[in-house]
Amino acid sequence: MREKTKYNGNAPGRQNSHKKAERQKNNGCPYAKKCGGCDYQGTSYEKQLKEKQKLVQKYVGKFCKVQPIIGMEHPYHYRNKVHAVFDIAKGGAIISGVYRAGTHEVVNIDSCEIEDEISGAIIRDIRGLLRSFKIKTYDEDTGYGLLRHVLVRRGFHSGEVMVVLVLGSPILPSKNNFVKALRKLHPEISTVVLNVNDKRTSMVLGDKETVLYGKGYIEDTLCGCTFRISPKSFYQVNPVQTEALYRKAVAYAKLTGKETVIDAYCGIGTIGMIAAKQAGKVIGVELNRDAVRDAVINARRNSVKNIQFYQADAGKFMVGMAEEQREAGRAGGGADVVFMDPPRAGSDEAFLSSVVKLAPRRVVYVSCNPETLARDLGYLTKHGYEAVECTPVDMFPWTKHCETCVLLSKC
Ligand code: SAH
Repeated sequence: MREKTKYNGNAPGRQNSHKKAERQKNNGCPYAKKCGGCDYQGTSYEKQLKEKQKLVQKYVGKFCKVQPIIGMEHPYHYRNKVHAVFDIAKGGAIISGVYRAGTHEVVNIDSCEIEDEISGAIIRDIRGLLRSFKIKTYDEDTGYGLLRHVLVRRGFHSGEVMVVLVLGSPILPSKNNFVKALRKLHPEISTVVLNVNDKRTSMVLGDKETVLYGKGYIEDTLCGCTFRISPKSFYQVNPVQTEALYRKAVAYAKLTGKETVIDAYCGIGTIGMIAAKQAGKVIGVELNRDAVRDAVINARRNSVKNIQFYQADAGKFMVGMAEEQREAGRAGGGADVVFMDPPRAGSDEAFLSSVVKLAPRRVVYVSCNPETLARDLGYLTKHGYEAVECTPVDMFPWTKHCETCVLLSKC
C-alpha cells in the first residue's frame, strides 16, 4: 500500500526528474478542458495543498487551530471507484466517459490520472465488447438502447473487483457469455452485478439488482478490519487517505475501552468498527438500507461484538436517544463520544441539538465540506462545546474538495 505523507511545506513526493515535476504541475491530462472533473489542472500538488489549507483555515480557523493538511505522496490513480456513462458519438462510435461539465454530452475518456487504472482498462474493454454482443448503448433522449453506465469498484487491499452494469431494461442478451468474455480479459473481476435503472434520472443506480457472477459485493481492508461493500453502499473513494483520516478520528476520540460511542452517518460501519476495539460499546446509525446490512455483516465478519447498527435518519435517531435519556431522568451519560460523518450538506438541527442534550464528552466531526462544517461548528460551539483542533486530509487530489476531521470537547 502506498504511503501517505504529512504536508510540511515541501511538495509531497517531490521528484527529481523534470518530466515528473511537470506531471506534478499539470497532471498531463488531455481531457482536462472537456471533462471538468479536476479543478486544479495546471496547479502543482504543493500549491493545491496550500490552497486547501487556506480553505479550511478560512472556514474552521475561527473555531480552532488547523493542523497541517495530510497530503498524498503519489496523488495519482487514487480513486477506487470509477464510473463511466455510455453513448454513441456522432460518427457512430461507442464512447464511454463522463458528461462534459454542465451538459449531458458524453466526453470519451481512455485514461484518467486520478482513477484506478485497472478499473479504467475494464471499462475500455467493456466498450470494445459491446458491438460483438450486439449490446446497444442507452439513449437518454429517446429511452432506446440498453447500457447506460458502468461502475467499477476495486478493493485496493484485497484486489477484488466489482463491475456493475447499469441497464435501461432488465434483459442483457447472452449475459453469461458476456461475463465470460469480460472475465477472460480481466480474471481479476470477482463479481458482476446487473442493475436496472429505467427512470429518466440523473441517479446512476436503479433499485433492481441481479448478481450475474460472484458474490454481488467486494471486500476490502481498512485499518485492519475487513469490510464488505455492496454496489449501493457508500465507501470512501481514496483508501490510502481514508486510513489516515480514520486513524486521526479515532485518536481524537481518546478511547480507553469503557466508552459508549455513537457512529452517526456510519455507512458500512467503518469508523465505528475500527473504534470498537478501544471502546465499551458502539452504536452505528445510517439511512441507507444496503449499507446497514453490510455493516451488520461486517461486524460479524470481524468478530466485533460490542457494536449495534440502526437503520434510521441520524437526526431522528438522536432525538429519540435524547428523549429516552430525559425520560430516564439522566442528564448526559447516554454517550461518551459521538463520531459524525454527514454528507456534503452537513448535519441538521435535530441531530445537533440532540448531541447537546446527550452531552458526550467529545464529538469528532468528519466532514467533506468545510462550509457546512463551519455552520455546524457554529451551532455546537454556541451550545456548550469547544472546538479543540482540526486536521485537513487531502482525500481528493486535483479537485478542490477537502476532508476535515475536527475534535470538539464539552466545555
Ligand atoms: N462514515 C462512513 C460514511 C460517510 S458518508 C464512511 O466513512 O464510510 C455519509 C453517510 O451518511 C452515507 O453512508 C449516507 O448514506 C449517510 N446518510 C445521509 N443522510 C443521512 C441521514 N439523514 N441519516 C443517516 N445517515 C445518512
